[in-house]
Amino acid sequence: MLKKASRTTDEAASEINLAKRLRYFEERSDAMVQTVRQLVETESPSDNKDAVDQLGTLLAGRFEALGGHAKFHRTPNFGDHLQVDFAGTRKVKPVLLLGHLDTVYPLGTLANMPCRVAEGRLWGPGAFDMKSGIALMLHAIEALRAWHEDVLPRPLTVLLVSDEEVGSDTSRLITENLARKSAAVLVLEPSHGPKGAVKTARKGIGEYVLKVTGKAAHSGLDFEKGQSAILELARQIVSIQKLIDLKRGLTLNVGTTQGGTRVNVIPAEATAVLDVRVARKQDAAGIDRKLRSLKPFNRKCKLEISGGMNRPPMERTPSVAALYKKAVEIAKELNWKLEEAAVGGGSDGNFTAALGIPTLDGLGGVGEGAHATHESILIFELPKRAALLAELITSV
Ligand SMILES: [Zn+2]
Repeated sequence: MLKKASRTTDEAASEINLAKRLRYFEERSDAMVQTVRQLVETESPSDNKDAVDQLGTLLAGRFEALGGHAKFHRTPNFGDHLQVDFAGTRKVKPVLLLGHLDTVYPLGTLANMPCRVAEGRLWGPGAFDMKSGIALMLHAIEALRAWHEDVLPRPLTVLLVSDEEVGSDTSRLITENLARKSAAVLVLEPSHGPKGAVKTARKGIGEYVLKVTGKAAHSGLDFEKGQSAILELARQIVSIQKLIDLKRGLTLNVGTTQGGTRVNVIPAEATAVLDVRVARKQDAAGIDRKLRSLKPFNRKCKLEISGGMNRPPMERTPSVAALYKKAVEIAKELNWKLEEAAVGGGSDGNFTAALGIPTLDGLGGVGEGAHATHESILIFELPKRAALLAELITSV
């Protein structure tokens, strides 16, 4: 009862405040669209360092214009990772805004898939994953400065890595180090589904290569001397399907296979590449152990397994749930029911959540077609996502 009574003053005041702040972003919707367009039109495939560096330089300039201090983590084979630090009025731990510069689209994709605005959407390579998320960071920071006499209400760090789409090998340590120093991590990866749900759980991901070595022989002259690596691999594939446990969110997909040389030769070699996904941390070790202890059906064949788990799962821990709850409260004041989703794909949020740092993912744009030709975002969703982000930065 007491809660109800106090609500009328404080919360009502903040509702008016939030409504005003939402209007602030609505009035700047065109500028936000312009920013997304500028980022989409600066192509940045993971495997092209020069292109990614160009986007990094552009963004360093934009964040510095907002009072941030930009520095690059030099990376020889990928684009440099961009870190921007902002000072803040309150003496508290910074919030980490996490994202990536790279996209899955090769250079020149814009020629066939130009950035365009139509039907209330902005289309283009990387618009959804995750250039609109970066635009939200820029505009939320700009607004917070405008509302707080040109200084942020709290310290803030932005980290935009260059290799997320290819596994984050060169950026993982940087992400983890910054997360450890932060009060919370807000990941501006695309939201989920048409309602823009945030992501409170993501599966962990592993990749394994299973190589079988058998013995080659002429299939006509010496059939009995051969040991077929393909046959052995086929038996192994059928057998490892039994490790799948859908109820526990544990899946295993043999994504590619290769083997043999010619039709009249008993194949001496065959290889399969496996994608493994786990919803729970302890399942990662279990499946790893099982895969490493596979035994050949044909004792004259040899098995070799390499690879391992790449990202730990992001589990919906109490600290993740608490951060989500806060976001729900803010969204509610913006007249919007913010939903949550558990997804099979990973992001750098997996690393930070696994460290126990409160992490909320999927705070970026609302749209569809990530990594596909119809990739697009809904323009009318941008202002409220920006308002939510600005408020979260202030209040976590
Ligand atoms: Zn992404």
